[in-house]
Amino acid sequence: MERVLGLKIDVDTYRGMQIGVPRLLDMLGSEGIRATFFLSIGPDASGRALLQILKNPRFLRKMVRTRAGSLYGWRTALYGTLLPSPLIALSFPELVRQIVAAGHEVQFHAWDHRRWQDDLTRQPAAWIQEWFRKGIEGYEHLTGRRPSAFGAPAWLIDERVLSLIARYRFAYLSCTRASAPFIHHGTDFVEIPSDLACFEEIGFDASDGPLLAALEPGGMHVLPVHAEVEGGIMAGRFTGLLRAVKHQGYRFLPLGEILPLLDRSRLPSRRFALRLLPGRSAVCAV
Ligand SMILES: [Zn+2]
Repeated sequence: MERVLGLKIDVDTYRGMQIGVPRLLDMLGSEGIRATFFLSIGPDASGRALLQILKNPRFLRKMVRTRAGSLYGWRTALYGTLLPSPLIALSFPELVRQIVAAGHEVQFHAWDHRRWQDDLTRQPAAWIQEWFRKGIEGYEHLTGRRPSAFGAPAWLIDERVLSLIARYRFAYLSCTRASAPFIHHGTDFVEIPSDLACFEEIGFDASDGPLLAALEPGGMHVLPVHAEVEGGIMAGRFTGLLRAVKHQGYRFLPLGEILPLLDRSRLPSRRFALRLLPGRSAVCAV
């Protein structure tokens, strides 16, 4: 069975863009690996997460377990509350060009990542439309083209999102956690889901054994990666993992190059559901 791994690298914060992305570009470059970067384009309102701690005890446990202070830095914890929210990708146009020049795929992840996670289900359709308009405009400004894929922040979507984005004609979505690609029920969208767990969920001190065991049989897989984590305090472990996966005989492809390997006519049509997965603080689409 063919062995293909896609790295879905989400950039969620200013610090992840500023420090994590250059570090990942170095690592991937020296390993000869190409990946897909899903960029947050607009404001970093991470500080609003502090408000979540008051509302959601699971969130506090996650912050402690993932050593959020050393992971994100304390400035990040105040963006959008005591400090103004800096723009993420829009602050680093040259870096976006470097990602593309290195042969990686760049796609659209978010306008305001934090607000999507916190507010999506409460906001009206017009808010969602405006969020996409600003994000896609920013993406076009940075790359000179339209994004051909969308990966929802925190794997959170609802039915309204799927119908509102029909007009963007994305070639694929990567908005869910599921074992294999499918077509989103009632739409034309091919979904290339993340089927593996990320370091944040497995635990920073846990072994990569289960991850490598999941890859051992072969096939096509997608690993979710966060620029703040694998391009930060987990960089050493991530390099080790990439080498071990290479050793298993895998080749790495951006998700946009996995897409043509799929036989669209044979993909099942499936409806997503929202569930709480192990190691996560909020529900996501599965
Ligand atoms: Zn994200």
